[in-house]
Amino acid sequence: MTDQVSMTIGGNAVATTASFEVVDPATGAPFATAPECTEAQLDEAMRSARDAYRSWKQDEAARRKLLLASADAVLAATDTIAPVLTHEQGKPLADARMEVRSVALWLRHFAGLDVDREILQDDDKVHIRVERRPLGVVAAITPWNYPLSLAAWKIAPALRAGNTMVLKPSPYTPLATLLLGRILAEVLPAGVLNVISGSDPLGALMTGHPVPRKISFTGSVATGKHVAAAAAPDLKRITLELGGNDPAILLDDIDVEAVAERLFWSAFRNNGQVCSAVKRVYAPERRYDEVVEALAAVARSVRVGAGTDPRSQLGPLNNKPQLDRVAGLVDDAVRRGGQAVVGGDLVDGPGFFYRPTILRGVSDGMAVVDEEQFGPVLPVLSYRSVDEVVERANDTHFGLSGSVWGTDADRAAAVADELDCGTAWVNTHLALRPDQPFGGAKWSGIGVENGHWGLHSFTEVKVLHRSRA
Ligand code: NAD
Repeated sequence: MTDQVSMTIGGNAVATTASFEVVDPATGAPFATAPECTEAQLDEAMRSARDAYRSWKQDEAARRKLLLASADAVLAATDTIAPVLTHEQGKPLADARMEVRSVALWLRHFAGLDVDREILQDDDKVHIRVERRPLGVVAAITPWNYPLSLAAWKIAPALRAGNTMVLKPSPYTPLATLLLGRILAEVLPAGVLNVISGSDPLGALMTGHPVPRKISFTGSVATGKHVAAAAAPDLKRITLELGGNDPAILLDDIDVEAVAERLFWSAFRNNGQVCSAVKRVYAPERRYDEVVEALAAVARSVRVGAGTDPRSQLGPLNNKPQLDRVAGLVDDAVRRGGQAVVGGDLVDGPGFFYRPTILRGVSDGMAVVDEEQFGPVLPVLSYRSVDEVVERANDTHFGLSGSVWGTDADRAAAVADELDCGTAWVNTHLALRPDQPFGGAKWSGIGVENGHWGLHSFTEVKVLHRSRA
């Protein structure tokens, strides 16, 4: 067991008497404990954030400077944070290090962004100023797949705009985020960023709490609907980044050999535990076998193992319920006539390992196609015409992202324009940047994160209209 990492409330390291266990998915056994936040401590965190807001919102130059200093502090702590992330999340250490670095990238990007401000008229009669103001305290709630990156997507723009925050990671992966809170407490004024942890009732207590003016939530569609309902009585602002079931449509001029590796990793990065990973591939009927074989060849070559082993390309799934869900979806598909060309089974031994799986002979209507698998499983489907495949790709409540792949990129882009989703990629997938807004259509979310557009979601428009006395 490693030492417990404290919560950060009002800049202080706060311990609790109650705690919960954190499991290492590579062994299936608990390796640490995390603090179980009490309701009184939640109140204290909200109060600290509200108190800190008064001065934090005043000094824009100081905020920029402190976000840059925060980025430096995070980078300097990479070797401390990354192994903790690997132990609690499962991802290979190289990926964990990349995730830590992405936090610094996001903090730097938002430190440099400007919030919109406009003078509509300024003469001897009237002065009209329109500007974006911060909201106040933001309650931020994150999932277990990218605990640090997704926290940074909230921390960087919210703080840049002048808000303060109470952040809660998933109980499956609390430790790296708690550590981040401790590291940033050395840089930021007390109360600006409070990080708490606890098992599931804590999220609902945060969204129902009277202090936050906004809830920034990343997680599943089901929980997102609860969050929206909890926000309604106080008309709290919400940004919801929810699940996806991204299609990748391959056009008939595709160079399969050239794209197979890229397409594979668009689905299997982080073991498929990515909201915007490719979750279903549509191949033209006459290229179907070739596509299935090319993807299966990559899957066979992938090394699965503990994230601490530098040879591992994929680690375990994050948790047992997720492993059971993925295995259940594959078993259901196989019972209904699908075939696992490669994979389709657990890896022997302890831990939540599942072999990368390519499914053929599957069809729309099977749960493995219609639902978000969120695991190392890729169903490959065939289609006859582009109109038909676009209709099938859009025939879902999800609308996070999608991609179209083909040698004629203009033609592929025209098809991508037909996809009902927040981001449509051409000949790539999962290409995300801090300046590129990201959000979902339909049930995949409300609002966007990142870029100017995401920064603005942490603000409200305020008009000052002044007439001569
Ligand atoms: P989840 O919805 O179970 O949990 C997300 C967070 O919400 C956790 O911190 C959890 O403790 C908290 N929570 C649980 N019940 C709550 C409640 N009633 N009120 C408030 N908070 C509550 O999701 P998960 O299983 O941790 O994550 C996987 C899901 O997240 C997938 O559906 C994935 O697609 C989605 N996701 C979306 C994005 C995106 O940007 N769109 C990014 C990553 C993950």
